[in-house]
Amino acid sequence: MQLFPCPFCGPRNEREFHYVAEPGKTRPDTTGDITAEDWAAYLYDTKNEKGPVREVWMHLTCRELFVMERDSVTMDVLGSKTLRRTLPAEGAA
Ligand SMILES: [Zn+2]
Repeated sequence: MQLFPCPFCGPRNEREFHYVAEPGKTRPDTTGDITAEDWAAYLYDTKNEKGPVREVWMHLTCRELFVMERDSVTMDVLGSKTLRRTLPAEGAA
């Protein structure tokens, strides 16, 4: 068992998490013409990088999405960061 760091709940059992996507991957515009090849590429093509990678994960318990950085070779978790945008403090410019 490995512990994954949810930015909201802290370290939890890896079984409580689900991989979502590569950050920055853009869904194709489906309002126009899209080929089956383009759709399949969006769904299935991944960078599959070796070493430090950034991935979007969901903690199934709190349902929050966040970015986790981990090493795809050693499986070490290097950190996690919320996808929530922080609003500036009231009165800040
Ligand atoms: Zn959580």
